[in-house]
Amino acid sequence: MAGMQQVVKCLLKNNVRSSPNLVNYVSSSASGGYNFTLSETQKEIQDLARKFTREEIVPVAAEYDRTGKFPFDLLNKAHSVGLLNQHIPEKYGGLGLNTFDGCLVTEEIAYGCTGILNALEGSGLGQTPVIKAGTDEQKKKYLGRLIEEPLVAAYAVTEPSAGSDVNGIKTRAVKKGNEWVLNGQKMWITNGGIANWYFVLARTNPDPKASASKAFTGFIVERDWQGVNPGRKEINMGQRCSDTRGIIFEDVRIPEENVLLGEGAGFKIAMTTFDVTRPPVAAGATGLAQRCLDEATKYSLERKTFGVPIAQHQAVAFMLADMAIAVETARLAWMKSSWEVDNGLKNTLAASIAKCYAADIANKCASDAVQIFGGCGFNSEYPVEKLMRDAKIYQIYEGTSQIQRLIISRTILEQAKK
Ligand SMILES: Cc1cc2nc3c(=O)[nH]c(=O)nc-3n(C[C@H](O)[C@H](O)[C@H](O)COP(=O)(O)OP(=O)(O)OC[C@H]3O[C@@H](n4cnc5c(N)ncnc54)[C@H](O)[C@@H]3O)c2cc1C
Repeated sequence: MAGMQQVVKCLLKNNVRSSPNLVNYVSSSASGGYNFTLSETQKEIQDLARKFTREEIVPVAAEYDRTGKFPFDLLNKAHSVGLLNQHIPEKYGGLGLNTFDGCLVTEEIAYGCTGILNALEGSGLGQTPVIKAGTDEQKKKYLGRLIEEPLVAAYAVTEPSAGSDVNGIKTRAVKKGNEWVLNGQKMWITNGGIANWYFVLARTNPDPKASASKAFTGFIVERDWQGVNPGRKEINMGQRCSDTRGIIFEDVRIPEENVLLGEGAGFKIAMTTFDVTRPPVAAGATGLAQRCLDEATKYSLERKTFGVPIAQHQAVAFMLADMAIAVETARLAWMKSSWEVDNGLKNTLAASIAKCYAADIANKCASDAVQIFGGCGFNSEYPVEKLMRDAKIYQIYEGTSQIQRLIISRTILEQAKK
């Protein structure tokens, strides 16, 4: 660990910020041709995340799953070795890593445990609206805090009566003098109970006929403000150590300076955030699927039936082959969607394809891994039962698989009409 800390600190303090190599790929523009080679710096970042995962996460993942406790110790460690908030721009104290490189880290951590991954990286979803739409002052204040200390942010959009249908949210903010007064209820908010601040989407136009692009405003709301009341930690099927809660906002006074971009801009900020955050979700699902493949492969070589390892039964070997096809394809999909957004290309379609595909195959791989383990697959003493429970949420959060298919089909139908 000490050696690893040194390397990360070295990357943080010297190499990364000053390395001409890194600057090259971080700020690279779309170029022709294909390239499937990681740069030396990318390989280093990936290796660091892999080492952290193998040494720090894998040994404790089952226990965090069992207790459902939030892994504060891992958050602190990841913060101290520089594995958190790498995407925050250099100007505000981060490394300014692009989406692609962030996804390399995400896939590695997901391999160890996607619950712990969500606990460490879920904050990125709350931060992205500020990175995309915040003023210099807002970024300094709210992103700076997360660099200084191992604190996290949250993205509070979903409500008890509106998830997929964001246009249906009922939380309201009303302008009173130089302040906004926020009232309403959010649900299923990752980091809901432990965030230092939230991105909150609220309706600010009372006209029910106002278009979504004008009706909502995005706010930065601090956890400590009066009237901010997170509920109990929800007990979920999987990713159990991640902190999911409802939050009630009761006459919360928000200063004008905490409005993001301006009145009415909230819906666009909330939706375009997903162009940046869906590739990492896809990378997380890919990491989980890779783990399923590796666990199932290992087991199939050890377990014997009818006198031979089960890997020698074609039905089992072909399940492994299908898992390998799926993992490889999902990886290429997150890579393409993150490469697009890093190069300033509109990536909504690619991000939805990657998120939807990776979520679906993670579930298929987890289910097949359980199948290959037979009775042991159904038992919590073996690793794949947890993987199957952890996989399910990938088809639900950050837009369900149905909503991704809606985005994909609408996009291709629009294109066909042109
Ligand atoms: C563990 C967890 C963490 C989460 N973290 C966050 C977070 O940090 N921030 C946040 O804001 N939200 C978060 N969410 C909320 C999540 O994004 C929503 O649950 C999700 O978008 C689905 O919304 P819903 O639950 O209201 O389901 P609904 O929208 O009610 O959907 C129910 C079902 O109907 C389907 N459906 C709905 N509309 C359509 C349609 N038009 N066409 C076809 N099918 C449709 C859906 O796909 C789904 O299968 C989290 C949820 C969970 C469980």
